[in-house]
Amino acid sequence: MRYRITFNRPFLSGHELENIQKAFDLGHSAGDGAFTHKCHEWFEKRLGVKKALLTTSCTSALEMAAILLNVQEGDEVIVPSFTFVSTVNAFVLRGATPVFVDVRPDTLNIDEKLIEGRITRRTKAIVPVHYAGVGCEMDAITRLAEDKRIVVVEDNAHGLLGKFKGRFLGTWGEMATQSFHETKNVICGEGGALLLNDSQFIDRAEIIREKGTNRKRFFRGQVDKYSWVDIGSSFLPSDILAAFLLSQLESIERIQGLRKRLWNRYSEELSSWAETTGATLPQIPKHCEQSYHMFYVLMPSPDARAGMIESLKARGIQAVFHYLPLHLSEMGKRWGGKVGDCPVTEQVSDCVVRLPFFNAMTESEQGEVIDAVKGYGRMAKAA
Ligand SMILES: *Cc1c(COP(=O)(O)O)cnc(C)c1O
Repeated sequence: MRYRITFNRPFLSGHELENIQKAFDLGHSAGDGAFTHKCHEWFEKRLGVKKALLTTSCTSALEMAAILLNVQEGDEVIVPSFTFVSTVNAFVLRGATPVFVDVRPDTLNIDEKLIEGRITRRTKAIVPVHYAGVGCEMDAITRLAEDKRIVVVEDNAHGLLGKFKGRFLGTWGEMATQSFHETKNVICGEGGALLLNDSQFIDRAEIIREKGTNRKRFFRGQVDKYSWVDIGSSFLPSDILAAFLLSQLESIERIQGLRKRLWNRYSEELSSWAETTGATLPQIPKHCEQSYHMFYVLMPSPDARAGMIESLKARGIQAVFHYLPLHLSEMGKRWGGKVGDCPVTEQVSDCVVRLPFFNAMTESEQGEVIDAVKGYGRMAKAA
């Protein structure tokens, strides 16, 4: 089936192709060329992180984080059950046991009040995910982590430029990860970044990212031989992708402006519809500045969710849902995950619908989606 209005549509900000040509002209299309450095600088200046390192994906940035923390067999990592698999898989790859914690019903973020009860002597890290780019309760989480000497790795795939209590998401934990997958706010097809807020991790992160070699220090003239010094992998993206990404980063105000406008319109035009049909729209706490990553609706029941998706599909509109509870997945069950462990996750994962939401969405496209949503609501009510 061809959709007239797809869920996502990749967006060119204008200088991507020209930048790629420049990367070739500079004779450097492998990783860590001029464009990669410019992207690193962008993150370091804009967010104020100590070090940014582009990676091939958010998944690989999370894998780097797990290696950097020396996560090993027997370690536990506290994660929300309502998230993308990579948040958890990256740590499981190193042998960790995931400890799934439920989410808050308002923001769908990890419920910070449930974390302390799940901490043990083996807990190595807490990995909060800023769902939809709305901040987790980072002051409570980082305070708890500090008390217990546990590291915080923020999965900030959704949250670039979002803030919690005035401070950027991605700057609260010892480390954070970003994604530039084509469905995120700022894209390069596939890509990511590891952000380091604690300088003790910088040297080793550079080595892990360069296949376990000290190549970076060699190029800087800090060592006279370039050799194998640690474990690592090929986590750095081509400068061609960095060239694409830089154009997007330099257009971020425009991108965020477009997304903010779309988000606010959905929110305003669907609010009375939501009240009368029992659907719930996203809640943004006063102390959070969101990143306008997605617009979702919580339908009153799984049937209403299925009906909504079908009804939009009949009009050529693609709405999607996501995040089957990880504790109930085939993998999650290996650690004893069972129904009832994370009741909020189990409930919302059956009821969430994500509406089409992309930078270049036109007013009339959005109007159609809004009409279709309202149309289904009336039908469902009449039935
Ligand atoms: C998209 C996403 C990822 C993975 O990002 P990739 O760049 O595709 O590896 C991880 N966590 C969350 C919360 C995501 O939304």
